[in-house]
Amino acid sequence: MRPAHEPTTATRPLVGVSSCLLGAPVRYNGGHSRSRFLTDELDHHVDWLPVCPEAEIGLGVPRPTLRLQRRDGADRVVSSKDGADHTDDLAAVADHHVLQLRRADGYILKNKSPSCGLLALPVFSTEGNRVDGKGRGAFAERLTRLLPHLPVEEQGRLSDAALREHFVQRVFAHARLRALLESDWQPRDLVAFHTRHKLQLMSHSPEGYRRTGRIVARAGSADREETAAAYASAFHSAMAVRTTRGKHANTLQHAFGMLSPLLDDTRRHDLLTAIEDYRAELVPLSLPVTLLRHHCAAEDVDWAREQTYLRPYPDDLRLRHALAV
Ligand code: SF4
Repeated sequence: MRPAHEPTTATRPLVGVSSCLLGAPVRYNGGHSRSRFLTDELDHHVDWLPVCPEAEIGLGVPRPTLRLQRRDGADRVVSSKDGADHTDDLAAVADHHVLQLRRADGYILKNKSPSCGLLALPVFSTEGNRVDGKGRGAFAERLTRLLPHLPVEEQGRLSDAALREHFVQRVFAHARLRALLESDWQPRDLVAFHTRHKLQLMSHSPEGYRRTGRIVARAGSADREETAAAYASAFHSAMAVRTTRGKHANTLQHAFGMLSPLLDDTRRHDLLTAIEDYRAELVPLSLPVTLLRHHCAAEDVDWAREQTYLRPYPDDLRLRHALAV
């Protein structure tokens, strides 16, 4: 049995990252784009797989800037100096790392880069006019095609507390499932994994929770590899759904219903009040979750204490405290 204080993630996630975000001086001008959240906080809990696509294809530092250019209807990454087209080489960097990346649990990309940028990059015509703002970097495009279930986020968006918390949840959940599926797992292990993730899945996607449950129910009689692939696909799809205050409140109510018979009137009232105050936007999520954790530990309730929802990532990341009430 896992002690109450032990994090629900024993596996250290492996996270791909644009090298410049970790402080490597590989940008076009010899600088970097160090992210303190990555180097000072997340670094304690994950292993990194840093990749600088532009350095890997030999563009050197410093180097001329690149830009996205629409040529014959396709977005190409070209040099602003001589128009040389580097698109295919940059995409091939993702192929080159694909074996390592298949073991990764997430990827953090530098925003606004014609190589690494994921969202809303400016695209220019061959005459230099801006065509639209919907471009994607060549490496990022190939990465997301190769690994559609990998949690991928731009560093710029991680300054949003809700997006950051969601991304980190997905990374640690991905690592737990990877650890299971890389082991000599048996159907009962998948049942235990699914049971531990019940509340967390419900808080993202009640339908996803039911879908994954149907796959688990057939695990004893179905082909093992097909079960693993189907469960992983459904699990990651469910975790990719953004949670909402309403879904959190319903999940907390569900946990309350199971814990309620063990609580006296005062504690039952306090917990219910915390949940309703959270639903009414009066208190942050961390309040009812902390109360739940406390009661689960005090009552020695294994099923609840084991729920990843109560401890989805290491506590010292303090991501739920940063969520707006
Ligand atoms: S954004 Fe990507 S290509 Fe540009 S310096 Fe950073 S890691 Fe290298």
